[in-house]
Amino acid sequence: VLRLENIHKSFADEGGRRHQVLAGVDLHVMQGEIVWLRGESGSGKSTILNISGLLSTPDAGRVWINGHDRTKASPRAAATVRSKEIGMVFQSSNLLPELTALENIVLASSRQLSREAVMQRLERFGLAAVADRKAKRLSGGQQQRVAFCRALINQPSVLLADEPSSGLDASNTEAILEAMRSGAESGCGVLVASHDEVFKHIAHRQLPMSEVLVEQV
Ligand code: ATP
Ligand code: MG
Repeated sequence: VLRLENIHKSFADEGGRRHQVLAGVDLHVMQGEIVWLRGESGSGKSTILNISGLLSTPDAGRVWINGHDRTKASPRAAATVRSKEIGMVFQSSNLLPELTALENIVLASSRQLSREAVMQRLERFGLAAVADRKAKRLSGGQQQRVAFCRALINQPSVLLADEPSSGLDASNTEAILEAMRSGAESGCGVLVASHDEVFKHIAHRQLPMSEVLVEQV
């Protein structure tokens, strides 16, 4: 469902010097598969996820999503692909703070979902009791569970999760692991970037950054 082919990416620092972060990254995630991208801070994990989510364009290489080459997708086309085919979760939940948990999910939903349908989803994440609470009034763990619920609401083919467990206690961590597992069971390919060892329990495959970089510059 996701394939990165020979991805290169560099960034300029303040002095205008370019730093190569990704130099020939190849990776793929298959349907129903959970792949754990692990590596040190600064090794380029978030860069890979942002490129996979079409939030950032590679300098060279190709991004395939569901068999389509989306490397050169316009921002608008990328947004369409994201809303239909990709779910994303970040380190901080990125919910709209003034909207309730339920409203955050309804807003992300591409189909007209009834309140009951969304409530059912929230229940599965143990969030029914806080459905009508503003996101800013939820705990960090609750917010992250809402973020997963939102990311999965459109049944995406690809779920990208960047350090999703950071700051979470054991029970919230278990809840997001369960969210990834159930997403994968319904066919979603999951790419999770983290240095947190908990993902070894659910990952079908581990991908150390040292192995996805064909050559390091
Ligand atoms: P962490 O585990 O800390 O989240 P990471 O593996 O996700 O690290 P990235 O965020 O992908 O690492 O960053 C890789 C390198 O690219 C870093 O050296 C970072 O400074 C640089 N970098 C990332 N994004 C940008 C940007 N927008 N502009 C300039 N440099 C960037
Ligand atoms: Mg990162």
